[in-house]
Amino acid sequence: MLIVQKFGGSSLADAQRIRHVAGIIADTYRQGHSVVAVLSAQGDTTDELEAKGLELNPRASRREMDALMACGENMSVALMAMAIEAIGLPVISLTGRQAGILTDSNYASARIKSIDAERMRTELDKHSIVLVAGFQGYNRYDDITTLGRGGSNTSAVAVAAALKADICRNYTDVDGVYTADPRIVPNAKKLDEITYDEMLELASLGANVLHNRSVEMAKRFNVPLEVLSSFTPDIPGTKVLEVTKMEKMQVSGVTRDNNVARISLVGLADRPGVAAGVFSLLAKEKVNVDIILQSIGRDETKDISFTVARKMLDTCVNTLREHQKQLGFVDLIVSDSVSKVSSVGAGMVNNPGVAATMFEALSDAGINIQMISTSEIKVSVLVDKDDADRAVRAVHDRFFG
Ligand code: ASP
Ligand code: MG
Repeated sequence: MLIVQKFGGSSLADAQRIRHVAGIIADTYRQGHSVVAVLSAQGDTTDELEAKGLELNPRASRREMDALMACGENMSVALMAMAIEAIGLPVISLTGRQAGILTDSNYASARIKSIDAERMRTELDKHSIVLVAGFQGYNRYDDITTLGRGGSNTSAVAVAAALKADICRNYTDVDGVYTADPRIVPNAKKLDEITYDEMLELASLGANVLHNRSVEMAKRFNVPLEVLSSFTPDIPGTKVLEVTKMEKMQVSGVTRDNNVARISLVGLADRPGVAAGVFSLLAKEKVNVDIILQSIGRDETKDISFTVARKMLDTCVNTLREHQKQLGFVDLIVSDSVSKVSSVGAGMVNNPGVAATMFEALSDAGINIQMISTSEIKVSVLVDKDDADRAVRAVHDRFFG
């Protein structure tokens, strides 16, 4: 098999951990596989590099910042190559440029355009272990670019897609994707498999295991992913695939997102174009609106409530207030003591009743639902922030208990 392995910064923090990871890579190689390992920078190196740059120039150009930040990953691959050389196996480290990773020119958040895999193939043909610096590429001006924080995941998936690898294994400090955050739900179970779409929902809901962009890319190029722990590399993790065997699973996970705020516009005119006015205004400010609730018109007025990411709250409120006359609302009410709890599952489409089961669990726990939204694979409710953890436990218990 051709296996791409990705190791995050915490798995590479010091010499001892690098040796440990070298051991994982070596074992895989000795099993007869072709191995490409994509590495992040050690520990907090990326933050430290950034701080060093900002110390000298708080307005440092993004080009130079990328050149600086890419050093962390260059260090990792060279160090890892030395550790593998010490074991006595053939190995070569490559920068993003050497690995042929061409990006656009958006420094600090570049997108991969294409990968010329020639060099990696040549090295694999020579039976070398190939180490690729994650997070970086080069653009058409031959400058170093970086892919945005957490970008090594994306590098790994892109390399796997370019090489048509059999699997892309992401080693982190968690051993897989769970049915809920084990810190909130101690009896959460590790999932054997999950679909790309479920993973995307879970990631954006805060199950921070894989970079969303990397999952999107894996889905697009059909790269099977696996999330597993570098501390227990022999225990299978969670596979992320197009279709899972567990179709009967209605719900794969229950998550909570505290990073939301609710805005209500009270006393809007009940006539066509009002909602369009509100949301096109917010769209212009690049605000992503999530759950929307509109009341039935009464006395020719209506209310619209919606949720946004908490960090967009100020932008929203300012924009709406500025346009109060034009939009014609009487009152604007804001709440940031809310939380979104969601059940995610690809099997929902074919299993009616998931929403009902979830609402029942919440009602039995005495938790009030403020807003509801559903999609093909997700049911979300807005609850009081203080109820959020209890809500996750109640819903998780109902589906998995
Ligand atoms: N080292 C980079 C970061 O910390 C990239 C990565 O870790 O994926 O964001
Ligand atoms: Mg890092």
